[in-house]
Amino acid sequence: MALSITDECINCTICEPDCPNNAVFPGLKHYEIDPDRCTECENFFATPMCQEVCPVDCIISIS
Ligand code: SF4
Ligand code: SF4
Repeated sequence: MALSITDECINCTICEPDCPNNAVFPGLKHYEIDPDRCTECENFFATPMCQEVCPVDCIISIS
């Protein structure tokens, strides 16, 4: 289970500190999610926190 950030990302940085698994990082063009670290916030939050805070809804499920 992991989420992914699309090209719609505006590099606002908001999601990075909210990830409990440090899975969000600045990529070459936009922020990215390490699928080996992302657990979709299981055991931390009821819903994926990065999706909750993203202002442009550019974080999607890839699983
Ligand atoms: S869903 Fe949760 S664990 Fe996965 S990248 Fe977003 S904040 Fe991090
Ligand atoms: S919150 Fe959304 S727009 Fe902002 S850096 Fe994260 S993925 Fe990109």
